[in-house]
Amino acid sequence: MARLGGGCLCGEIRIEVEEDIRFSLACHCADCQRYNGGAPAYEAVFSRDAVKITKGVPRAYATKADSGRAITRNFCGNCGTPLYVDLEKLPAHIVVAVGALDAPNDFAIKAHIFAQSAPVWHQFTPGADVHPRDFPPPPGKPAT
Ligand SMILES: [Zn+2]
Ligand SMILES: [Zn+2]
Repeated sequence: MARLGGGCLCGEIRIEVEEDIRFSLACHCADCQRYNGGAPAYEAVFSRDAVKITKGVPRAYATKADSGRAITRNFCGNCGTPLYVDLEKLPAHIVVAVGALDAPNDFAIKAHIFAQSAPVWHQFTPGADVHPRDFPPPPGKPAT
């Protein structure tokens, strides 16, 4: 039995998740704001194996990050709901749009990234880490 259910506005796509959220973040990059109607991308990270599409076939739109690696945004081709993002940088994980989950109140956003692009009126989550750009690399590792 799935721990978390989700899907799109029109019901054509349904997803099931078989683990708890590993990490949650908000991305304020310009592409995410455009894609999400002016809001940041509120995202829940899971291991790829734990997320199953149980109904329908999402459409996909691929772009490149500043790093040159692929970002593929998957959404409902009928109603346009953002569903999940595949990052070339994180092949073992899947980044699910919080708005696609049936119970988005069950966790809090832990980090904001690309905060330098957030609109001046955005209120950051109290207690969350705020990074001006991407997550800083661990000490001794080059930025990706
Ligand atoms: Zn839909
Ligand atoms: Zn973004």
